[in-house]
Amino acid sequence: MNTVNTPSAQTIAASVQAGQSATIEVSAALDRAEADTLNAIIRVHRTSALKAAAAIDARIAAGETLPMAGVPLVIKDNMCFENHETTACSKILTGFKPPYMATALQQMLDAGAVIVATANMDEFAMGSSNETSVYGPVSHPLDADRIPGGSSGGSAAAVAARITPISLGSDTGGSIRQPASLCGCVGMKPTYGSVSRYGLMAFGSSLDQIGPMANTIADAALCLDSLVGHDKNDSTSVERSYETGHAATIAKTDLSYLAGKRIGYIEHHSELLSEEMRNHLDGIKQKLADAGAELVPVSLAHEKYATAIYYIIGTGEASSNLSRYDGVHYGHRSEDATDLNSVYNKSRAEGFGPEVQRRIMLGTYVLSAGYFDAYYKKAMRVRRLICEDYDKAFQNCDAIIGLASPTTAFKRGEKTDDPLTMYLSDIFTIAANLSGVPCLSVPSGKDKSGLPIGIHLQTPHWKEKDLLSFARCVELIRE
Ligand code: GLN
Repeated sequence: MNTVNTPSAQTIAASVQAGQSATIEVSAALDRAEADTLNAIIRVHRTSALKAAAAIDARIAAGETLPMAGVPLVIKDNMCFENHETTACSKILTGFKPPYMATALQQMLDAGAVIVATANMDEFAMGSSNETSVYGPVSHPLDADRIPGGSSGGSAAAVAARITPISLGSDTGGSIRQPASLCGCVGMKPTYGSVSRYGLMAFGSSLDQIGPMANTIADAALCLDSLVGHDKNDSTSVERSYETGHAATIAKTDLSYLAGKRIGYIEHHSELLSEEMRNHLDGIKQKLADAGAELVPVSLAHEKYATAIYYIIGTGEASSNLSRYDGVHYGHRSEDATDLNSVYNKSRAEGFGPEVQRRIMLGTYVLSAGYFDAYYKKAMRVRRLICEDYDKAFQNCDAIIGLASPTTAFKRGEKTDDPLTMYLSDIFTIAANLSGVPCLSVPSGKDKSGLPIGIHLQTPHWKEKDLLSFARCVELIRE
């Protein structure tokens, strides 16, 4: 693992804005991306990145102020990068070069960031260990036999290994926060509807959200400022005035922020944790209390159904979204096909990996006539109850604290033969996708084997500033 102390996004942006050439840090990041030994990086964009860096220098020289001037960025392989291969790490999209740019990427570029590389991920973002990618698994930055989490495992590992100070991930049930927790970096899922998903390859459209991954809360805040905003190309993008200036807020936040704040915790989560993980969480809660916060028990009575209904709603939406990959419109087409139906059937059978096929079959089943009411409709009702639980809980507290993952990084292959155990990796993160609230994982310490642990924080919709401020306090008190 690269332990070189590479500069933060904030430091790079400030020095490029002050006149240092963007090419210096961009070239250094390109070199690190090319030297990646974790399989976190699947494509390095040297030519376009160096061209973009020169263009940043010209924009600065012309008097522009760019909040992310020259900051090298790694993106997840499910975000359409115009004219660059983008495959969601699936064989079915081999060779696909989007003719347009995802809005979130365009906003990063407008702010001065430079895309240096594309990160590995679980195929179509389905997984919790980055073992379902057509490009092979990603290694954990601290232990090559372990997984980095998923599905944004490459994005998390790239940041944790200091290839770039920030990366982008996507989160449908925990895919930003769980790998951030396992790799020891920050990963944030903003409020549903705050970051455009135009150009994000859809998995579960009512759940998917793009968000920043970084080594510090300050850098995540800087990135968030440029990511949010209304986009008419995404019908779920919310038109409102977006609060920015989060990076400046975080720079000023200290522990006095906690005075008079109520932090809720979900009591039954303790039963789901090992003694070591429980003690860690209790230790952080105690330190927050010592610093002035009031810790209050809250209940999310229906949260225990979150994982079950996620695998109904998420797979239902996935089966519908992935029907567009038919061997005709994009990517892989079977060479053995003889007629239209065999083009569809064979291309999909050859193009999708086993986990994606499992989700499509599950999703098709729960949406099919005769089963729709029993599964999908019922799941949507339970989802409503979970949303109401959140509304009630937030009447009693300003944030909810817990752990992002029930365990630290597990061994490669440990859960691949047992999808149900794998699905339980996200028990603490899924409810936030179902309700749409903003949430993040912030590193809070290590277990006895030296593997990172992440604290999970959630706040009410649109309270990103509070979320980042609480997380900054965890950064300040952590071991
Ligand atoms: N691990 C979860 C799944 O496999 C979450 C994935 C995600 O958030 N994209 O569905």
